[in-house]
Amino acid sequence: MNGNDELLSREPCRYCDKMIPADSAFCPVCKRVNPLGPIRCPICKNIVDEDCRICAHCGTSMEMDCPKCGRTVFYEEYCEYCGAKLRGVKIPEERASVGVCLD
Ligand SMILES: [Zn+2]
Ligand SMILES: [Zn+2]
Ligand SMILES: [Zn+2]
Repeated sequence: MNGNDELLSREPCRYCDKMIPADSAFCPVCKRVNPLGPIRCPICKNIVDEDCRICAHCGTSMEMDCPKCGRTVFYEEYCEYCGAKLRGVKIPEERASVGVCLD
């Protein structure tokens, strides 16, 4: 294994569009987590499309109100408007309790 960084496949970061190593768990440019790959439901980890309003597997709402700017945003790692971290923020009970697939 030659550890030549230039030979690693690169993919664009979802947040800043810079090309970063395809196995990145963090974007080295904008420092955000999960910069590559699909978005997953926070409850059941099912892959959800950015167009989805709810998780097709467990019905969890994939929209939430940003705790910082108050806008309704897609529930991914960060607010698309102000950049506030969303994952790890508690979602309201009536939304979270829909899940039947807690593991
Ligand atoms: Zn980035
Ligand atoms: Zn789900
Ligand atoms: Zn926000």
